Amino acid sequence: HSKDCVKVAVRVRPFNKRERDAGSRSIVSMVSSSITIQDPREPQSRRSFCFDYAYWSHSGFARDRGGLYVPEEPGGRYADQDSVFQDLGEGILENALQGYNATLLAYGQTGSGKSYSMVGYGPNKGLVPKLCDRLFQAIRENQDTRQCQVFFSMLEIYNEQVVDLLSRGSRNPGGLRVREEQQRGFYVEGLRTVPCDSVEQLMEQGTRTRTTAATHMNANSSRSHMLIILQLKQIFSKESITKQSNINLVDLAGSERQRSSGSEADRLKEGTAINLSLTTLGNVISSLADVAVGKKVVHIPYRDSVLTKLLQSALGGNSRTVMIATLSPADICYEESLSTLRYAERAKRIQNRAVVNESPTE
Ligand code: ADP
Ligand code: MG
Repeated sequence: HSKDCVKVAVRVRPFNKRERDAGSRSIVSMVSSSITIQDPREPQSRRSFCFDYAYWSHSGFARDRGGLYVPEEPGGRYADQDSVFQDLGEGILENALQGYNATLLAYGQTGSGKSYSMVGYGPNKGLVPKLCDRLFQAIRENQDTRQCQVFFSMLEIYNEQVVDLLSRGSRNPGGLRVREEQQRGFYVEGLRTVPCDSVEQLMEQGTRTRTTAATHMNANSSRSHMLIILQLKQIFSKESITKQSNINLVDLAGSERQRSSGSEADRLKEGTAINLSLTTLGNVISSLADVAVGKKVVHIPYRDSVLTKLLQSALGGNSRTVMIATLSPADICYEESLSTLRYAERAKRIQNRAVVNESPTE
């Protein structure tokens, strides 16, 4: 039973086409785990931040024949999906196998590499599929000491409504309800929870539902939060104990200030609701960062949004939590990148109290 801080990683991606076409300059540099950002209008003005990990994925990459991004030279500078997984994913897997809850959050502006890091594209598999592959491998390797079950759920929070990404149809036009129980804390009522021994198809199904739902609502999926919940149950027959751990994997909505689009009514609704989950997350993180430095805080506003309800234990509670903050390297993204770094710096101060979730086997 120890206090552990939220671990924070930053990752900077390659220029995209828009940035290259605009002749963008990189304003970000990294030395080991510290990152420096330069104000493009005042080159003398630099800000440095230190995190647990910093990943340079901006330059020094090549694409092999399968379309995989790899370091240009062996041991080169480019941080590929594997090296990010080794630092962040392996630890989460270890924790989960020991019986700790674990949470991984991706934060950053739209197009900065959140989904690339979390889910990945094509052969560039991200943290979630790699984590699941390794989890099922570990389960096979430990078959003689324990009996394991994995349950998978996938949901989206849009406009403060919870959409089950694994159940088809619109049986719940108003979204699923979030309820609270003494022992369990907040949970989504009626969410599909699928026992599984691989997740590829489920993730594909969820991603497809997310895209079609967004098209139907004429919405932009960059404004929704995607949450995958893996529940791992391990029964150790010799010791007669059962360990249960939850792994939350969260691809957050784009952190940029929401700009106007769509109709006036949509704009008003989104303006309050979409920002509500992300704004509240920011408020919760700030309050917890204040707690950590000994400031008196009377109230942590977990109950103010759906996202913070569902992530309550991940933030200051019974979970080992990792945040990956993703950035564009370009001068034109300076304001957003600086604000991402500040956000990540606050998150780093949060202290959690994770415990092994074990009980005698019933
Ligand atoms: P977000 O989910 O934050 O909106 P994406 O993850 O979709 O952004 O990334 C935007 C684009 O940048 C994608 O085309 C993706 O392939 C590319 N990209 C992001 N991060 C990296 C990276 N580390 N290495 C190579 N390409 C990346
Ligand atoms: Mg995305």
